[in-house]
Amino acid sequence: MLKVLVAIDGPAGAGKSTIAKLVAKKFDLMYIDTGAMYRAITYLAQIRNIPPSNVEGLCNLINSISMYFENGKIIVNGEDLSAEIRDPNVSGNVSLYASIPEVRTLLVKLQKDLASEYEVVMDGRDIGTVVMPNAPFKFFLTATPEIRADRRYKELKEKNQQIEYKDILEEIIKRDYIDSNRQTSPLKKAKDAIEIDTTNYTIEEVVDEISNLIQNTIIKRRKDS
Ligand code: C5P
Repeated sequence: MLKVLVAIDGPAGAGKSTIAKLVAKKFDLMYIDTGAMYRAITYLAQIRNIPPSNVEGLCNLINSISMYFENGKIIVNGEDLSAEIRDPNVSGNVSLYASIPEVRTLLVKLQKDLASEYEVVMDGRDIGTVVMPNAPFKFFLTATPEIRADRRYKELKEKNQQIEYKDILEEIIKRDYIDSNRQTSPLKKAKDAIEIDTTNYTIEEVVDEISNLIQNTIIKRRKDS
């Protein structure tokens, strides 16, 4: 039997989480937002005054908390942190915390454990390359920085957040730079991932394309076996 594991990577605002959620729903898979995990650690580190330089403090923090997903929400120590982790303060600092190798080792272990236990759609930066290198379905979503910033801007405006488009564009470009240039598992397309430029496509069109590819492979494998 083919185990359905779907890796969706790409830069900030490429539509990964919205698309991943819909694909998970279609195929009844668990959705795991790995960016939310790095954000949750960043959020907790900030309120507990643990700077990125305090690697031991960060590892103790990660080892001392419980973190899981429920209906797409991230629950940390029993508390839903889904709103808090989207704060601009978290978005502005998360790439620094995520570039620390020891932080990545611990979170990647959690992610690998989930992928070995369940059928999942996981989105992030290193899912196809590091977390699920053997996933049968890998996608790499892109779009221009301007389009990605525009999507984020509209999303945040809908939530009544006071934010300027130019600040979001700046943050996205900075985050892409740090994420793509860090030493440990940088943002990179896996060799066997299918790249989809979402600039001129709707969410539904991308979900359809991904779903069709998954469906066709499942049907073919069933016929072959
Ligand atoms: O996906 P999202 O934009 O919420 O991710 C927030 C940040 O978490 C990214 O900019 C990146 O620094 C980090 N991240 C990562 N590896 C992942 C997922 C996210 O380094 N697999």
